[in-house]
Amino acid sequence: MTTKAAVQKLFINGEWMETGSFHKVYNKYDGELLAQVSTAGTREVDLAVSAAERVFKTTPFPPEQRYHVLMKVSKLLTERAQEIGECIAREGGKPITDAKAEVIRSANTFQLAAHEARFLSGSMIPSQASPGIGSRLMYTVKKPIGIVCAITPFNFPLNLVAHKVAPALAAGNPIIVKPASDTALTSLMLCEVLEQAGVPKGYVQCVVGSGSTVGEQLLRDPRIKLYTFTGSPEVGRHIQQTIGMRKVTLELGSNSATIVHEDADVQQAAAKLAKMAFAHAGQICISVQRIFVQKNVEAAFMNAFLEHVSRLQVGNPLDPATDVGPMISVKEAERIEAWVREAVDQGAEVAIGGKREGSLFYPTVITGARKGMKVVDEEVFAPVVSIAVYETIEEAIELVNDSKYGLQAGVYTKSLGLAHRLPYLLEVGGVIINDTCCFRADHMPYGGVKESGIGKEGPAYAMAEMLETVMVVVNLDE
Ligand code: NDP
Repeated sequence: MTTKAAVQKLFINGEWMETGSFHKVYNKYDGELLAQVSTAGTREVDLAVSAAERVFKTTPFPPEQRYHVLMKVSKLLTERAQEIGECIAREGGKPITDAKAEVIRSANTFQLAAHEARFLSGSMIPSQASPGIGSRLMYTVKKPIGIVCAITPFNFPLNLVAHKVAPALAAGNPIIVKPASDTALTSLMLCEVLEQAGVPKGYVQCVVGSGSTVGEQLLRDPRIKLYTFTGSPEVGRHIQQTIGMRKVTLELGSNSATIVHEDADVQQAAAKLAKMAFAHAGQICISVQRIFVQKNVEAAFMNAFLEHVSRLQVGNPLDPATDVGPMISVKEAERIEAWVREAVDQGAEVAIGGKREGSLFYPTVITGARKGMKVVDEEVFAPVVSIAVYETIEEAIELVNDSKYGLQAGVYTKSLGLAHRLPYLLEVGGVIINDTCCFRADHMPYGGVKESGIGKEGPAYAMAEMLETVMVVVNLDE
């Protein structure tokens, strides 16, 4: 492990700033010190909000310019995919192939937002719809809401920042990003790209520092008009309670499920589920955590599934052959090791895995798990999946819904009727047919129900939140 590392500056009001206090960012696989990131104090956070307020009042950022700048961001991200991908692999522990894919997805997120910026408009309101209105022209206009604050998690350090920065800018708002401290380098690289692409000074700023200091100060600054948060339900709840009447979007956790019905293509389901239950070591909010298999196909599914899981390569995320890299910290790997041990003590069985080496936790499949165990009820956020058997589809629906969360659900079935009925019966924000719950396209409305959050992301949907709708009524009978 090295002790010296580059100092990474903060990005405030278009300037790169060193503060004298630092957060150390490590390689999550081998513990190497990657960089010391300057952290913001009270002064820097205040500077960032003041700069955002000033720029919003004084510097126009018209939609046509937003379009060109965001398209340029997309192009620059694509050009730097290898370099930024390596940064994500090092500081986030994500296998390099997935890390590069995240950069390409982020480039697409910026493009989607760029297109939305060009077509921003209000709508005509029919004046005949209510009686007694007389001769009036009625329409809405859309205007930027003001300063947006993004608080982001470690697991997609680029694309989940992109899903907040791109729509905020496309809507014409300045945005202040508070990234997860342990993966702050990627968001600072994004700032370099945004600066190079010509985002006006002060429209994007990045203040690194812990949630309990920088995060808290941002939550209490009344100049901020909207908070967009992705992270744990605990912090999400705290944000909502702290910010009072201001707007908020919360993308929180889940213990997502996928049903493998008796008429499913079991081989296809087994192969895809083995991949998506362990992608990014299960640290994805829509990761496959619970699998419900119909009794008649249980044996065939289990054989194929365990065979695929046994072939997953665990190791260094920079190795292109690696499927499952380290978890974000040894502490997190120890936490899931204890949860698995507890489930076994309560009667569950480990069909494969259960082993830990430092921050690496091996892909683990549990059978015989039931409600009341943490590995079922809580979000595992680790490479651990439990499998349970059901007889009727009604039973499977009940099992999926028996959760405090509701982000997405997957269903493998060949029945067209069942596929179209399930979205009305499952208590989730998205139903994915013939694929796992772990599917997201960046333009789709994405977000959960129950404790999985409030509001939707996807550039068009996030922008709807980040714009104020102003009603205009013109009395034509002067
Ligand atoms: P955390 O909630 O721990 O942290 C998320 C962010 O919140 C970090 O930037 C953190 O800062 C900050 N934060 C912590 N405390 C406060 C506070 N008091 N005030 C303001 N900000 C604060 O989540 P993780 O980073 O551990 O991410 C994992 C979680 O994110 C999982 O629950 C997962 O399900 C969820 N998630 C949800 C997604 C979705 O779209 N629904 C997608 C991806 C992840 P710092 O860490 O620097 O202290």
